[in-house]
Amino acid sequence: MARYTGPVCRLCRTEQKKLFLKGTRCKSDKCALNKKRFYPGKDPKARIGKKSDYSLQLREKQKIKRMYNMLEKQFHLYFERALRMSGVTGENLVAMLESRLDNVVYRMRFASSRAQARQIVNHGHVLVNGKRVNIPSYGVKPRDVVEIQEKSKKMLPILDALSEVSKSGVVPWIEIDIDAQKGTYLAHPKAGEVADLADIKEQLVVELYSK
Ligand code: SF4
Repeated sequence: MARYTGPVCRLCRTEQKKLFLKGTRCKSDKCALNKKRFYPGKDPKARIGKKSDYSLQLREKQKIKRMYNMLEKQFHLYFERALRMSGVTGENLVAMLESRLDNVVYRMRFASSRAQARQIVNHGHVLVNGKRVNIPSYGVKPRDVVEIQEKSKKMLPILDALSEVSKSGVVPWIEIDIDAQKGTYLAHPKAGEVADLADIKEQLVVELYSK
């Protein structure tokens, strides 16, 4: 699966929002958003000014897509699936993104960023309900148990990431047992429950793709 390999802090600077793409650095003073030059590029001021409806919709879509570490084609497919499901499309989209296995591994604090979580899944370190799953886009269902396989439990990146639990805990729709490196995905979150998306309007993404 193709993925973005350019400088990730630039993405946050473009969106003027922390997208948490670099693990612990994002929570430190070294975060690029704490520095003075905000927008990337040679003429950052060119990006300031009144924005069209299209531009606002596009930026909201880019924020969500980049936060979940996805490329356009795959993100658009998620949107189309969310549209076909019953219920509110924006809510469906958030539930689908949050239930991706790489995201669940990140939320369970087995990885310090979604990119690292994707790598952990790709390399076969993760079990879902006792079976090895190495597909980052695998959809985790409510009550599924996700864990780090026995022989990977001493991996330093995983232990480092887990040390964050004592500082910032886990999201309410997930329960974890730190010692066992095992967690349960309790339910799909509602869009309003996902703090990272609190200032993002999913409805603008719906409007963008509905044109
Ligand atoms: Fe974004 Fe993290 Fe870089 Fe800050 S450190 S700009 S939050 S990727």
